[in-house]
Amino acid sequence: MKILLTGGAGYIGSHTAIELLKQGNEIVIIDDFSNSSSKALDAIKKITGKDFKFYEMDYKDREKLEKVFEENKIDAVINFAGFKAVGESVKKPLNYYINNVSGALVLLDTMKKYNCKKFVFSSSATVYGNPEKVPLTEECRVGGTSNPYGRTKLMIEYILKDIYTSDDSWDICILRYFNPVGNHESGLIGEEPRGIPNNLMPYIVRVASGKLEQLSIFGNDYNTHDGTGVRDYIHVVDLAKGHVKAIEKLEKEGKGLYIYNLGTGIGYSVLDIVNAFEKSTGQKINYKITERRPGDIAECYADSKKAKEELNWIAEKNLEDMCRDSWTYIKNQKQE
Ligand code: UDP
Repeated sequence: MKILLTGGAGYIGSHTAIELLKQGNEIVIIDDFSNSSSKALDAIKKITGKDFKFYEMDYKDREKLEKVFEENKIDAVINFAGFKAVGESVKKPLNYYINNVSGALVLLDTMKKYNCKKFVFSSSATVYGNPEKVPLTEECRVGGTSNPYGRTKLMIEYILKDIYTSDDSWDICILRYFNPVGNHESGLIGEEPRGIPNNLMPYIVRVASGKLEQLSIFGNDYNTHDGTGVRDYIHVVDLAKGHVKAIEKLEKEGKGLYIYNLGTGIGYSVLDIVNAFEKSTGQKINYKITERRPGDIAECYADSKKAKEELNWIAEKNLEDMCRDSWTYIKNQKQE
């Protein structure tokens, strides 16, 4: 299969590129480096020993995108080109709707023109809003997302359903990520959020490295085992392998619109993460308890049965792997 990865130099895209190449697929990457760097492309080549075509461009640029389809016989597309910072999406909603929604429309319409109808979409557990129950199954109610980022994910899911309803020769797989953390074990690629990180693990590693002073734990009065928020953290390499399985399903079975949760099925609290990080890396995390963060929910974790049964996929890495591999990359950066 020749697979186009939009945003393939980013955090999840680059890890998926490695797993796809390892399985013998060909890939083409496009990226504008708005939230990534060319270092990731060198790392993909170094880790896999394989080469691929790369186009530095905005995926919304229709003319350039058509050229990519003209020059390559693309069998399937995985779209990683979405913006993903929740806080930023509240401040810059138009940027998010334009990049994520308009971008997806340009991409899908171009795919249609070139009769490329296999599409894997990076969605998020955020589409469940305030979970009606945990663990969350794919059938749980969606909606009630509290920010523009989450709404773009849900809108694109609806768009994909409409496209499939109108033309069932599309093969579409929507992957709802829970909380991706960790990095490739080589320490060569990793998550590089712009500015001060929003998410827990990137914040913790920067406290450990001395870049940030103290972690604020947003509330310890939730109805959870220790009062802090509970999430389903999943190692990015496991997540990347989920994409390979999704592509395989579309290649072999095709003809359908599928939705899968990609999570471990285990919920860990903020304090569980801090303790596990300290234990597996030997680094002390300075923290204080503060107010709840507006819009946060108490707990969110996946029922991952459907992905296991239909994709033959399960998360294999544990919390210790996630903490260690998150730290290795940052430690390497420090030494550079
Ligand atoms: N969190 C925290 N301090 C931080 C960042 C996050 O206590 O600096 C908590 C947050 O309240 C939530 C969990 O960590 O309970 C995961 O937050 P994150 O932003 O990583 O993911 P999301 O809330 O989008 O699932």
